[in-house]
Amino acid sequence: MTDEVRNVIIIGSGPAGYTAGLYSARALLEPLMFAGYMSGGQLMLTSDIENFPGYPEGIGGPEMMIQLREQAERFGLEVQDKNVEKVDFSEKPFKIWVEGELFLSKSVIICTGAESIWLGAEGEEEQKGRGISTCATCDGAFFREQEVLVIGGGDSAMEEATFLTRFASKVTVLHRRDVFRASKVMYERAANNPKIEIRPFRSVKSWLSDDSGLSGAILEDPRDGSTEEISCTGAFIAIGHKPITTFLGGQIETDNSGYILPKTHTMTSVSGVFAAGDVVDTRYRQAITAAGMGCQAAIDAEKWLEEQH
Ligand code: NAP
Repeated sequence: MTDEVRNVIIIGSGPAGYTAGLYSARALLEPLMFAGYMSGGQLMLTSDIENFPGYPEGIGGPEMMIQLREQAERFGLEVQDKNVEKVDFSEKPFKIWVEGELFLSKSVIICTGAESIWLGAEGEEEQKGRGISTCATCDGAFFREQEVLVIGGGDSAMEEATFLTRFASKVTVLHRRDVFRASKVMYERAANNPKIEIRPFRSVKSWLSDDSGLSGAILEDPRDGSTEEISCTGAFIAIGHKPITTFLGGQIETDNSGYILPKTHTMTSVSGVFAAGDVVDTRYRQAITAAGMGCQAAIDAEKWLEEQH
């Protein structure tokens, strides 16, 4: 238990969190960030970021996160690589429990982002980490000269498929319909890659395995329910993400999927608690928009703290 009451505690450490940290540190609020065990968020799992202004040659996701962190720390952001377990926002100062330790803060900025959704097909649980993954950047190199599947029709699926061609002999992208959410440029890059085959109207019904791990899948055509078998030794699920908000225990208003609903600018349903980045964003979900929102949340928190005096 500590008696110290911080001005602002930032929970989460993607581009939103680090930008909020940078701005609140420069506003001399002496912010404290709980970055999580896996600090840096989803961009730590991204190979190349080509659409963040200011990097004409692109930049690796982890490299950018290290730079954002260093930049914020240079102005005084204090970072602890720990996970927040629970919060109590029912009275001020707000209470935040981290590995059993209690922290107090006048304001909080939530930037916990989102995590991968799994397909939930039959046999998936058993093959997680034995061939089925949600991160090509992390696991792609295990599949040298092997045939792999990518599930999904968005930018993530196209990015993962293109990245996997560095290792795999063949990458088959399976999508449940023939309309793709992926941006044109990323779709075409994948579609034009000779190692990639894109197959619309294919869902995974169940996963097949043998003694050495994943061996294939039973696919279904959602139009008529017909099935076929495909062999593969690796599969990458890229069907989107869900927001990380369960630690809030329902104390902040969210939509039905768990995304935090902003009330006034970046302020949530609890006065003094702000949110930014993918934990709020169901529309844009880009590194640059998350960083922009982190900046907004820090400015909103600073103004709100001033108004409390
Ligand atoms: P997304 O755009 O929401 O696409 C998810 C895909 O998965 C869709 O094709 C969806 O199919 C499919 N899907 C969802 N649930 C499924 C299920 N249960 N079974 C089978 N398929 C399912 O998600 P994302 O690709 O992760 O992209 C998220 C955001 O990040 C986007 O805004 C994207 O632009 C951004 N992003 C950007 C980059 C980049 O610019 N470098 C890279 C990655 C992601 P339906 O279309 O049929 O619903």
